[in-house]
Amino acid sequence: MKRSICRMGNPILRKKAEKLGKSFLLSDSFSQLVLDMKDSMDHYGGIGIAAPQIGVDLQVALIELMGINRYGEEINFPLTVFVNPEVTYLTDDLQGFWEGCLSVPGLRGYVERPKKIRVNYLNEEGEEQEIVAEGFLATVLQHELDHLLGILYIDRVKDPKLLSYQEEFEQFINTKALD
Ligand code: ZN
Repeated sequence: MKRSICRMGNPILRKKAEKLGKSFLLSDSFSQLVLDMKDSMDHYGGIGIAAPQIGVDLQVALIELMGINRYGEEINFPLTVFVNPEVTYLTDDLQGFWEGCLSVPGLRGYVERPKKIRVNYLNEEGEEQEIVAEGFLATVLQHELDHLLGILYIDRVKDPKLLSYQEEFEQFINTKALD
């Protein structure tokens, strides 16, 4: 079921989310949470969503990049559930994208983040997983996992001048967009 999205200013977006225990992970409430996050992400047109964005104070994020094309690079990353994720930076090299966020509607901002990361997490079965991500996927992952720490992309905008409304972005900038 689609849930409403918490927007910037809602304190739930600014606190570190709680880690999930194994028993909750295997419960029907958890399955329902994942379904609600997926429905909400699809309805509002996101490529990722974190539980605090639908008002749930838990370390769960979803990402799905299917047929996303950036810089001629086609990315197909199937729907993946990240529970209790931990990020390790594998390089100091940065890459920049114009990010947007369902919780900060109507705006885009240019953010630089490390190009390559490792994420250790539990999947929806509670199994330990590890992924190494580069490029656009690395940025999407960092954006979503930041939500679980109470961080919004706005906090990481390189320069306040690199913040734009969507319409002006399309009119004047329109490059390196991250939906
Ligand atoms: Zn976001």
